[in-house]
Amino acid sequence: MSQPALWELPLHALHRLLASGAASAEEICAAFWDRATEQDPHLHAFLDLRSREAVLAEAAAVDRARAAGTALGPLAGLPVALKDNLSTAGWETTCASRILRGYRPPYDATVVARLREAGAVFLGKTNLDEFAMGSSTEHSAFGPTRNPWDLGRVPGGSSGGSAAAVAAGLCPAALGSDTGGSIRQPAALCGVVGLKPTYGRVSRYGLFAFASSLDQIGPFARDVADAATLLEAIAGPDPLDATSARLAVPDYSEALQADLSGLRIGAPRELFGEGVEEDVRASVAAAIDLLGELGANVSECSLPHAGYSLDVYYVIAPAEASSNLARYDGVRYGPRAAGADYVSQFAATRAEGFGPEVRRRIMLGTYALSAGYYDAYYDRAQRVRTLIRRDFAEAFERFDALVAPTSPTVAFPLGSRVEDPLAMYASDICSIPANLAGLPALSVPCGLSNGLPVGLQVIGPAFGEMTILRVGAAFEQASDFRGKRPPMAVLGG
Ligand code: GLN
Repeated sequence: MSQPALWELPLHALHRLLASGAASAEEICAAFWDRATEQDPHLHAFLDLRSREAVLAEAAAVDRARAAGTALGPLAGLPVALKDNLSTAGWETTCASRILRGYRPPYDATVVARLREAGAVFLGKTNLDEFAMGSSTEHSAFGPTRNPWDLGRVPGGSSGGSAAAVAAGLCPAALGSDTGGSIRQPAALCGVVGLKPTYGRVSRYGLFAFASSLDQIGPFARDVADAATLLEAIAGPDPLDATSARLAVPDYSEALQADLSGLRIGAPRELFGEGVEEDVRASVAAAIDLLGELGANVSECSLPHAGYSLDVYYVIAPAEASSNLARYDGVRYGPRAAGADYVSQFAATRAEGFGPEVRRRIMLGTYALSAGYYDAYYDRAQRVRTLIRRDFAEAFERFDALVAPTSPTVAFPLGSRVEDPLAMYASDICSIPANLAGLPALSVPCGLSNGLPVGLQVIGPAFGEMTILRVGAAFEQASDFRGKRPPMAVLGG
């Protein structure tokens, strides 16, 4: 068998090459930069790829440190991509919106600072649905990203750029954000691993706020071990984010050693319901059988209120978004439209700067929060959210983890849902419940349906990342998806 190319390897394999001196950080970063430059025109995963010189200069600094005897951490000298809603000091951050064009944040998001400290080399900023609102990356103001498994299909969203980049080997790992599924759903549709941590596990400082009670940052990786490494690097308390939990960060890689004997896993029937494609259901059912063979006790269970998740989310998320997005006034960020006074300038900037989906969310959210409607919509949605949380709390008295499909369908054709918001929102039916309850959830590839990836979702109790990583790792070792990549012919490589 021929040696795999550097760009085909996960972080842990690249780290071993680096530590043994078999490859330099410069060689590794050059391999990914070259691959990204060659392939991204097919995919449009990146909104901005840094210059080769800048990337290689940082890699060379890591090589020099290593030559001088400095011990290297697991991310040192390795390339990582960042969703373009994470603030990067002095480096344009657009949220794929015209309203932020040219905006250079004066500081790094905490996750960015932590990866920098760990020696990671940033390759570029990845594409997303504008302000992370969407499930296909087609709502980017700068054009969609394509799925590397089929260039006529979407990569999922909103972190579609990060998912496509990792799937196609343009970078070994990336960060995304997940408010209603935006890490897990694109991970599933692109055949990579994606993890949404517990609300509060990772600091949100420097993440452009969409819905603050739901947003979390998390990793995309080639395998579960790499997702664990990245989570360990970015997790932990942060004085700059009052919602970050004051809990020590465990050694997540320990989760990867254990087997599944005696683990109690529930399969909530509401997450296998209407809208879940037959092939997806079959693939996830086969994955569940495999978990049983690995020693887990799997049984069906119920989350009685989970069926209301979409309705609840599409009140709460737009309500919070309408408030968070009030700050884009044409004064503090990006381009400013002409106007005779503050109000007309504000209106013109926002009319020109925001795309149709963002405008729709602002209108929905403003309506839901209006006097007279607040009780009927926002308050009622919060009450049902509490019921959904309680359903999960009860389920976790009997189970250590829950499993479900990540997405009800495989990747859909570009253009097929973009004019139909309800069809687009339905993409989130399996992923949103974990956001509403603030729980950690992982998507691991579990099969192919007509050549397109399917994801198995593993949901844990609050701060139960160890458990879901353990389930994901054991499943990945035993499943035959491991190592599968989009066929090269699709990418013309
Ligand atoms: N697709 C969902 C939405 O449009 C979730 C997005 C996200 O998680 N950022 O709101």
